[in-house]
Amino acid sequence: MVVNLRKIICTLGSHCSLQVLKGAKDEGFKTLLITEKKRYHVYSRFNFIDHVILVDKFRDILEPSIQNRLNELKSIFIPHGTLISSLSSDEIENINVPVFGNKFILRWEADRSLKQKLMVESKLQIPKAIKSKEEINDLCIVKLHGAAGGKGYFLASDKKGFEEGCNKLLNDNVITDENELYIQEYVKGVPVFLHFFYSPISGDIEFMGVDRRYESDIDGISRIPSKHQLNVEIEPTYNVVGNIPLVLRESLLEEVYQMGENFVRASKRLVPPGIPGPFCLEGVYTKEAKFITFEFSARIVAGTNLYMSGSQYANLLFENGMSMGRRIALEIKNGIYKRKLNTILT
Ligand code: AMP
Repeated sequence: MVVNLRKIICTLGSHCSLQVLKGAKDEGFKTLLITEKKRYHVYSRFNFIDHVILVDKFRDILEPSIQNRLNELKSIFIPHGTLISSLSSDEIENINVPVFGNKFILRWEADRSLKQKLMVESKLQIPKAIKSKEEINDLCIVKLHGAAGGKGYFLASDKKGFEEGCNKLLNDNVITDENELYIQEYVKGVPVFLHFFYSPISGDIEFMGVDRRYESDIDGISRIPSKHQLNVEIEPTYNVVGNIPLVLRESLLEEVYQMGENFVRASKRLVPPGIPGPFCLEGVYTKEAKFITFEFSARIVAGTNLYMSGSQYANLLFENGMSMGRRIALEIKNGIYKRKLNTILT
């Protein structure tokens, strides 16, 4: 039965929108997709999308006419990675439509120094930040700012290696200045992405799933025999093409919950109202099974697309297959019923 919740769940047509809108529909909401005209042929196939607003580019959601339309429809906007890569933090904060979660913490995801501060305050172990190319004396990963999905990252073990990688990005017009790059210690181990949901309504932190990414071309390099690797110049890239499911050794869960709790506590202190909704701690498990967090996402991550029917962990917490998208809709529904929407929207 479709309950008339008098709200429409909307999001940008990209990243994890199918999961978000399917989950909203399953919880009884009407749904709305804002997408670029060129992408519509994908979304036109799904009958759980009730309304569509077509735009030339995602930035067009800044147009007052579009925001007015969203408000007329009583929309609640679900942010994801495409919003962060399409708009600046100022623009996101000025969106005049109710946003699920804390739109102000998205600035802390996009800005490297704020990000580092929140991770330190959350007592997470983090890789060493290398201040300048002169200080590189071990394997480092060099990153671009923003949610670029690992595109353009390169490895360097010394100043010369940094300059080579940097010049390539300058020549390819990916960056215009060396200072756009951020150098971090390369943590040796296996990368793992931990998906959490924090409910201010129940007060609980839910560990919803875990994934690893399938990145081109770093994950393809092991398919090339070493004698051939040595003959061709390969500079690995970290462009995400998909995600692979994972479960953790059960003994690791205690620390996982601890990290999630610390992160929720620190975000409430530093960026009120904190982190209502989904977030992801992204790091490397070292050979000692220590989790070193290199990033966080302060919103739903695309890795949760793996679990549209519920992850192993979500299935322990919820009766029906609960995706992260559906969990968001459930929280909004609880917020409406318990008159606590103000605690989960900004
Ligand atoms: P990101 O876009 O920052 O999530 O990183 C993209 C990919 O780069 C990750 O999936 C990891 O494979 C790798 N990576 C990022 N930071 C580090 C690090 N400090 N040490 C090792 N690998 C990293």
